[in-house]
Amino acid sequence: MNLKALSLYDEFFICAYCAYCIDNEAACPTFRSIKHEIATGRGKMLTARYLSKGLLSESQGLAALSEGLFQCTFCGACSEVCLVDIPLTDVYSELKELVQKYLPEGTKRSFEHLIRSNNIYNLDQEDRNFWSVDVEEIYEKWVNKRAEIGYFIGCVASYSSRAASAPVSILKLSQIASNPISIFSPEEYCCGNPFLLGGNPKEARHIARHNIFQISQLGIQTLMVSCAGCYRVFTKEYPKLLNHNLPFKVITHMEYITNLIRTKKLNPRNNKPIKVTFKDPCELGRHCGVYEIARELIALLPGVEYQEMENNRSRALCCGAGGLLLANYPKMAEDIAKRLIKQMEDINISLCLNACPSCQINIDNTLRKMKSPIKSIDITDLVRDRMIER
Ligand code: SF4
Ligand code: SF4
Repeated sequence: MNLKALSLYDEFFICAYCAYCIDNEAACPTFRSIKHEIATGRGKMLTARYLSKGLLSESQGLAALSEGLFQCTFCGACSEVCLVDIPLTDVYSELKELVQKYLPEGTKRSFEHLIRSNNIYNLDQEDRNFWSVDVEEIYEKWVNKRAEIGYFIGCVASYSSRAASAPVSILKLSQIASNPISIFSPEEYCCGNPFLLGGNPKEARHIARHNIFQISQLGIQTLMVSCAGCYRVFTKEYPKLLNHNLPFKVITHMEYITNLIRTKKLNPRNNKPIKVTFKDPCELGRHCGVYEIARELIALLPGVEYQEMENNRSRALCCGAGGLLLANYPKMAEDIAKRLIKQMEDINISLCLNACPSCQINIDNTLRKMKSPIKSIDITDLVRDRMIER
């Protein structure tokens, strides 16, 4: 193993070990859960440094690095606050490629599922339209049809009944707005994020090629996504993996719906009072800098009182589901969500709005376990609700 061959090798030695990535109030959700440094920015930099100096044997060092890398949610809070601007999440991605012999079970399972079935649930691709039962007619009209705007649904919303409401809302709202869109299930494959989060860019590249070919076949000029992970992968990872820009633009479902309201194609009129907050997904916010569109969309909805959580935008707390943590260490994912939910309770809201199905589900699971009255839904579900006059 030649650590020096890593393009970000020098970063191990730039780390000043100041611990700001650990004790900053917004940083490292993992440290707050396990009270151990191994998975923090500083902990991983230190392990990599010891390994490179031979203070740890290769097997000890790689096993310790793997533990640290996979107990990390990839939330990017450490990169955001690092006093010497180390691109920490990029360093983690490089290091993950080195620990392939030491992967935790959840990551191995995710890889097997993707290789066998092209989706994280290891289910039949033909069942990818599971979510569409309530909008079957619209689905049949638009599936695999050419359109200017396409919708990449993502594995979680496609297969999990807990997150299926987002694609249903998007199809219903598009129909109300007379704005046909294209969907390409079952030829949609997972975006490949689990491969990237697990340190296997080679397999992710195959998937990227397939998805881009399918999208291009349908003449799509703008691709909409409703998952923060898919957004990060399409906008930041695919161009790097394929070494070229994408032949279409990528937008979030929030931008799409905001445009429909601004152009008066949708006129939400239900003004029943409701108090809400928005959970900035890490992969959309810190990783891609997308913060304001959610606030702009919410401001267009009648009857909605909006309140920020104490930590928001670049300092938003992680929900705990990212970085394959939910697959590898579900108990930690729940612990981390509890800290976020405490901030929701402090502002007395009834709805947590999400722009990521993994956040939505992990927050929802934890809210249920806590028997909290707060509900966790996709932001477009609230738009759909505002269309119903009461
Ligand atoms: S990405 Fe998040 S969980 Fe991982 S080390 Fe950084 S702050 Fe901690
Ligand atoms: S904030 Fe940056 S420099 Fe300080 S310990 Fe963390 S990674 Fe190292």
